[in-house]
Amino acid sequence: MHWPLISEQIAAASGKHFSPSAPRSVGGGCINSAYQLADGERAFFVKLNQGETLAMFEAEAAGLAELAAADGPRVPQPLCTGIAGGQAFIAMEWIDLGRQRGDSAAEAGRQLAQMHRRTREHFGWEQDNTIGSTAQPNTLNADWVAFWREQRLGFQLKLAARHGHGGRLQERGARLLEVLPVLLNHAPEPSLLHGDLWGGNIGYDSQGAPVIFDPAVYFGDREADLAMTELFGGFGADFYAAYREAWPLSSGYSTRKSLYNLYHILNHLNLFGRGYLSQAEGLIERLLAEARG
Ligand code: ADP
Repeated sequence: MHWPLISEQIAAASGKHFSPSAPRSVGGGCINSAYQLADGERAFFVKLNQGETLAMFEAEAAGLAELAAADGPRVPQPLCTGIAGGQAFIAMEWIDLGRQRGDSAAEAGRQLAQMHRRTREHFGWEQDNTIGSTAQPNTLNADWVAFWREQRLGFQLKLAARHGHGGRLQERGARLLEVLPVLLNHAPEPSLLHGDLWGGNIGYDSQGAPVIFDPAVYFGDREADLAMTELFGGFGADFYAAYREAWPLSSGYSTRKSLYNLYHILNHLNLFGRGYLSQAEGLIERLLAEARG
């Protein structure tokens, strides 16, 4: 059984004896199995997957640490990652989620803008990570258009070709990559991004304070984070109003939003299959039409 080994590693990493009661399975994760491990005094959130996914958890822990160091929304403090009984695991602070106050969404908007104020010289990150379970390359690049072309859209398009989505998607996708400078006609700063900020990756703690988790961290155009919040339902008017008050967006956001969300639609095509093909192709056509003006 791997739980005693995980408990030992948690004890070593936290510098304090830890002998928890039986782990409690918690639902909700798309990719990993998730548990609460608690001893009556301390509680940890533990995710498990096959041994090969250790690098994914290491990058998640590094991403959580990067976000925690920014002055943004609360994130679970990562504790340790490792292998136990052939399985990979990540352990982090347990946070009781579920209490949203009337002003929680506005607070999330303000705090996200604050997090985006943390900037670097280059786009990308020191390490590659994953988006869902797909690899996400983050090689540092000073040129945002080149970064989005090669490491985001181009990478997912190549993956789609390997998954058998050739023909029209590839032809039109290649055309889109050519006209990218027309569509990405602004000069964003490299902001610290959550990277996978859909509604399933934000919650509110027992005080109603926003918590973000399960990131795919890199430094990029802050609009890419905002775009994703709108992809599956949106975070509510108060969130966007508070964000824009804290840091207004520049004109042309609605076009860039589609370009940024195309990355996630292509990733869904690669993760979940053909059901996303017509949405990806439709989005590419709309963007090509906008590039023609
Ligand atoms: P996966 O990587 O499998 O998608 P998540 O990291 O999204 O898993 O976590 C699954 C669910 O567990 C989340 O939707 C959230 O409700 C809950 N959760 C995530 N992090 C914590 C935490 N630190 N403490 C308590 N619950 C958490």
